[in-house]
Amino acid sequence: MSLDALYQEIILEHNRKPRNFREMPDANRKVEGHNPLCGDQVTLWLRVDGDRVVDVSFQGLGCAISKASASMMTAAVKGKTVAEAKALADEILAMLIGKLDVEKERQALGSLAALSGVSKFPQRVKCASMAWHALETALDESNPEGAAPEPAR
Ligand code: ZN
Repeated sequence: MSLDALYQEIILEHNRKPRNFREMPDANRKVEGHNPLCGDQVTLWLRVDGDRVVDVSFQGLGCAISKASASMMTAAVKGKTVAEAKALADEILAMLIGKLDVEKERQALGSLAALSGVSKFPQRVKCASMAWHALETALDESNPEGAAPEPAR
């Protein structure tokens, strides 16, 4: 199986069985994101305890890439510190616009590298970046309990 085929399979599998796809009644951060270009929507819940993201969940409607990216994001940041989660969001957002040396980081990225192919399809970048922008907003301490919609970037 080629790397592209493997990565496509990872995205389809996350789309079929999204991880952490539920509401979180005891969340202390909630952010909504949307991507008007494609009609994708996401609601992201975080439970931050001290400096650690102890739980992450999402619900949303949208294309396979938006859902898979949100699913992979929740799986990747759960249990990380806020600083680690922010650093990961920076890295993935750079990767999505082709500004990360994926060859060099492939090992560290693990399955998240599956999203790297999106950088070749500019019209799909916002589908994949939506959940990560929502994460950045949710992690921003100046926005606790923030429910302000995240504008699509
Ligand atoms: Zn989309």
